[in-house]
Amino acid sequence: MDFYDFVIVGAGPAGLTAGITAARKGFKAIILEKGKTAGPKPRGESFRENPFLRNLLGDYFFDNDCFQMAGGLVFHSPGALKGAVKPGKKTLYFFEWHTFIRRLVDLAEDAGVEIKHNANVLNPVLKNGVCTGVKYKAGNGRVVQVNGNAVMACDGYKSILGSYFDVPYDKLNCPMIKCLADNANIDVAQTPDLQFYFVGNGDLPDFHDFPPCVVYGFPIGEQNG
Ligand SMILES: Cc1cc2nc3c(=O)[nH]c(=O)nc-3n(C[C@H](O)[C@H](O)[C@H](O)COP(=O)(O)OP(=O)(O)OC[C@H]3O[C@@H](n4cnc5c(N)ncnc54)[C@H](O)[C@@H]3O)c2cc1C
Repeated sequence: MDFYDFVIVGAGPAGLTAGITAARKGFKAIILEKGKTAGPKPRGESFRENPFLRNLLGDYFFDNDCFQMAGGLVFHSPGALKGAVKPGKKTLYFFEWHTFIRRLVDLAEDAGVEIKHNANVLNPVLKNGVCTGVKYKAGNGRVVQVNGNAVMACDGYKSILGSYFDVPYDKLNCPMIKCLADNANIDVAQTPDLQFYFVGNGDLPDFHDFPPCVVYGFPIGEQNG
């Protein structure tokens, strides 16, 4: 049976970052991803300047694969159009999701992380209440067990592992609409504002003057936004 220092479930940003970090410190790591590729569903487009991320992704990614924005973030609370305005103290970097994931995959592979696709983790393997491995269904339909010194649940908001340990994921999510508005309060061509609308369940009909925007429907529980 295969044994690793780290068995990581999910090849999203968290799992890939965990794998790279482990491998760079000399640990043997495997990432199990149920999709055909890493990060199969686009889930984001921006982050703030951050020394850890810069060190992880490298200057090239920040300087060539992102565009920068110095504008503030505007948060609109449920039921009210105007909310907290957070001035941009640190530069925001926008990127294309697949470019971001591709960069993480390249770094993981360079560091020697094994990434298995079409590996759908079914359940944790427990020994005396401690998670010592996982069972996953491979692309050929076989159920395979893999063990490790540590198992990391990086399988997103509906984590199969988290659900075994009663993490209330269905209560942690909030539907949100993000909007790069072209009628923001400053010149968007120079410094666009990124607007976040936190929308309470059933509140959307109240937003009569909704500006043109890109909409992300965040899932809440079993529903899709
Ligand atoms: C629409 C949207 C927009 C967002 N925008 C931003 C943003 O701009 N900036 C920001 O910082 N954050 C943003 N977020 C949040 C951010 O995307 C998440 O915090 C981030 O993706 C979490 O990374 P993760 O690796 O934990 O999970 P995920 O990105 O969800 O990755 C989980 C991975 O686990 C895999 N997986 C799931 N179940 C299994 C299983 N049973 N077996 C094997 N693999 C499995 C999935 O296929 C996936 O690849 C956004 C989220 C959404 C939904």
